[in-house]
Amino acid sequence: MLKSKATSVDYTLRKRSILRDYRAGRLSVYDICDAHPEICRIARNVGEHTRVPCPVCHRHDLRLLNFVYGDELNYDNGRVFPTRTIFNGLREKYRTFTCYVVEVCTGCSWNHLVRSIRFENSGGNTDV
Ligand SMILES: [Zn+2]
Repeated sequence: MLKSKATSVDYTLRKRSILRDYRAGRLSVYDICDAHPEICRIARNVGEHTRVPCPVCHRHDLRLLNFVYGDELNYDNGRVFPTRTIFNGLREKYRTFTCYVVEVCTGCSWNHLVRSIRFENSGGNTDV
């Protein structure tokens, strides 16, 4: 039987701190809306839609990207996967990997690491 453990780290407090500094004038829009054009392109093409408005420009809904990294991943390393593929596919395929969930505004280039999730799987056929 496949045993799976997922350890999540949430970065909401960091986001609040950045937005607080921006609204207080301690950070500029250039400091916080610095997504690489390639990240914006990926978000536009395959980012998962949300109904959450961008906290900076308030004109576009955020998109989520799941970047996946791990020693075993080979050509899947650093790729973006839909959430359903991570929970039904990658978890069965690899023993350990980390998913970094990033929110992106394709309008103003706001981007922020929302959470990281480390998956550790064991078991499989050896438990039969
Ligand atoms: Zn925005």
